[in-house]
Amino acid sequence: MKTELNAKVVGKIEFAPGNFAIKIAPIGRTLPDFIPGQYGVLGLPYSAPRSVFSDPEEPPADPDKMIRRAYSVASSSMSKEYVEFYISLVRSGALTPRLHKVQIENFIFPIFFFQLFYAFHGR
Ligand SMILES: Cc1cc2nc3c(=O)[nH]c(=O)nc-3n(C[C@H](O)[C@H](O)[C@H](O)COP(=O)(O)OP(=O)(O)OC[C@H]3O[C@@H](n4cnc5c(N)ncnc54)[C@H](O)[C@@H]3O)c2cc1C
Repeated sequence: MKTELNAKVVGKIEFAPGNFAIKIAPIGRTLPDFIPGQYGVLGLPYSAPRSVFSDPEEPPADPDKMIRRAYSVASSSMSKEYVEFYISLVRSGALTPRLHKVQIENFIFPIFFFQLFYAFHGR
C-alpha cells in the first residue's frame, strides 16, 4: 500500500560534516503540543537520491517503498510551525544518506515527499 506523504522540509543546516538538523512542517494539519521525549518517524522512498558522502547501495526491488526511521524531537516547545530533528549521517544507512541530500530550495521535487508521524507518551 502506498503511504500518503504529509510533511515538507522547511529548513536544514549542517553543523559538522554528517551532522545536521532539519525542520519539518506538516501539510494540512497543526502540530501537537510538545511533550518531552517525543519522537517522530521520518520517511522517504528508496527512489529519493542519496548524499554523495554515502556508500553506494544496491538498487532497491521497489523504489516506491518507504524507508522509515525514528528521530527524537529537538525543537523548542514554543514552536508550533515546524518540528526539528538532529540527525547523524550513517554512510551505509538507508534513510540518513537520503535525508542528508534534501535541500529546502528543492521543495517542488518529489524528494520532499516526507511523511511524519507522532508518538504520544502517556496519551
Ligand atoms: C526512539 C529513537 C530515536 C532516535 N533518535 C535519533 C536522533 O535524534 N538522531 C539520529 O541521528 N538518530 C536517531 N535514531 C536512530 C535512527 O532511527 C536511525 O536508526 C539512524 O538514523 C540510522 O538510519 P539509517 O536508515 O541511515 O541506517 P540503517 O539502514 O538503519 O542502518 C545501516 C547500518 O548502520 C548501523 N547504524 C545505525 N545507526 C548508526 C549510528 N548512529 N552509527 C553507526 N552505525 C549505525 C546499523 O546497525 C546498520 O548496520 C533514533 C532511534 C530511535 C529508536
